[in-house]
Amino acid sequence: MLADPAAQRRLLDVAALDVKLVHLRHRAANLPENEELKGLQAERVALAGRITEAATRRGDAQAEFDRVDRDLEAARARQERNRGRADSGEIADQRALQSLLAEIGHLDGRISDLEDIELEAMQEIEDATGVHDELLARRAGIEDRMRALLASRDRSKAEITEQGGRLMSERELAREPLPAELLALYDKIAGRTGSSGAAELRARRCGGCGMELDQAELHTIAASRPDAVARCEECGRILVRTGESGL
Ligand SMILES: [Zn+2]
Repeated sequence: MLADPAAQRRLLDVAALDVKLVHLRHRAANLPENEELKGLQAERVALAGRITEAATRRGDAQAEFDRVDRDLEAARARQERNRGRADSGEIADQRALQSLLAEIGHLDGRISDLEDIELEAMQEIEDATGVHDELLARRAGIEDRMRALLASRDRSKAEITEQGGRLMSERELAREPLPAELLALYDKIAGRTGSSGAAELRARRCGGCGMELDQAELHTIAASRPDAVARCEECGRILVRTGESGL
């Protein structure tokens, strides 16, 4: 193919913009916030399970406390009645009195046991509440961080969109004056490389893939007409000759 050398050089502007657009797309697909957000989200899900566990533990302890407290109240009321009867002197029968005193002794033991259980339940409520509160605070911290990351990601996305729009307009302008046939070849090559379809032949290397051209190739290019379109044998890009080509 033949193309005006000036048009070939302008193709380098299009190529530079296409490379920038590829970098921009790569940046959009690999925003650092996404990686951290993924980790935090997993942590948040794990915490939710532990928060439920702590809440259940506290609820169970509270139910145990309420049950023991009711039993204790009943036992104390009964003990009060027992002591009232024992102290009143109304029980003349010795055996009945012995039996009442025995029950008072027995009930003292039960009240003492219930008080121990109630204290344990209170301790358990306190422990579970402490764990629950700590987990809630940790989740709140994670959610704060997530909100900050989401805001930062939104800013990055907006910036990328804006930058992408600007590059696309510049690209349109850079392509406008170029011959359709040259652009068609460029686009076909760009589709294959996934970025640009042309590169500068600079210091004997292809500016696209970095391959160094051998003497024979350099000689062929140097000897060809200035409007001949050269190609890189390695990546297929259009090799644009400039003063820096080393020919
Ligand atoms: Zn190449």
